[in-house]
Amino acid sequence: MTRRDLLKLCDALWSKIILSRGRCQICYSRRNLEPHHIISKRYAATRFDPENGACVCNHDHGRLTRHEIYLITLKEEQELKRKTKKWTVPELLELRQHLKDSFAELQGKIK
Ligand SMILES: [Zn+2]
Repeated sequence: MTRRDLLKLCDALWSKIILSRGRCQICYSRRNLEPHHIISKRYAATRFDPENGACVCNHDHGRLTRHEIYLITLKEEQELKRKTKKWTVPELLELRQHLKDSFAELQGKIK
């Protein structure tokens, strides 16, 4: 498995974890939910952190993307963007397992 494949798998698991919250955290709608990266996915250090994810409806996702609404302050954003990280393949393998376990645990809580 390549590093690229692992990044994709981890992104998909991260998205499942975020979506399993089941409601838009802005308007509480349960429809048209999408996972949103609070700090852009381009920043590797926070890319797979569920804390950096927001479950939002398509409408609110658009508002966030257009910077009409915010989930964190500019200061918090700048601090988080300062963190750097280069994911290695062994780290990604470990991360994938961790995300899988987290998702399984969340599924268990829902049932
Ligand atoms: Zn919403």
